[in-house]
Amino acid sequence: MALRRIVTKEDPILRKKSRPVEKFDKKLFDLLDDMAETMKNAEGVGLAAVQVGMLRRVIVIDVGDGLIELINPEIIEEEGEQYEDEGCLSLPNESCQTIRPAVVKVKAQNRDKQWCLYKGEGLKARCFCHEIDHLDGILFTDRKNPNPVIKEEHEEDIAR
Ligand code: ZN
Repeated sequence: MALRRIVTKEDPILRKKSRPVEKFDKKLFDLLDDMAETMKNAEGVGLAAVQVGMLRRVIVIDVGDGLIELINPEIIEEEGEQYEDEGCLSLPNESCQTIRPAVVKVKAQNRDKQWCLYKGEGLKARCFCHEIDHLDGILFTDRKNPNPVIKEEHEEDIAR
């Protein structure tokens, strides 16, 4: 395993569309391993292959309940809305409140080429959406909530 360099906003690759994975070979497994290590090292909760310069439909996610590897992921169902602050390892100095579904169902292939179903709520739903967006060249700033909802915890922050 090796750490890979995370590309930042200035790199036009982040706006490109990633291609589906067809070959489930050592090259893919190395990419998955390196992405997991790179994400962990950067203390991120998700990483898309394009962020390490590979235009492949591959993402890794770990919101604290274990690593999930998703190959050729697609959102098949979404429900509700949530408004939370979001950031990105490729845009290290930016954050904004986004509009995301509250719950999503995602289908994706695993390393063994099998299609699996995943359900995410809250942070995990945001993470699935954020990373799958990367595969289509979409950044979280494109999902900015034009009328941000002021949250109670923000008021507490100001009061302190
Ligand atoms: Zn990101």
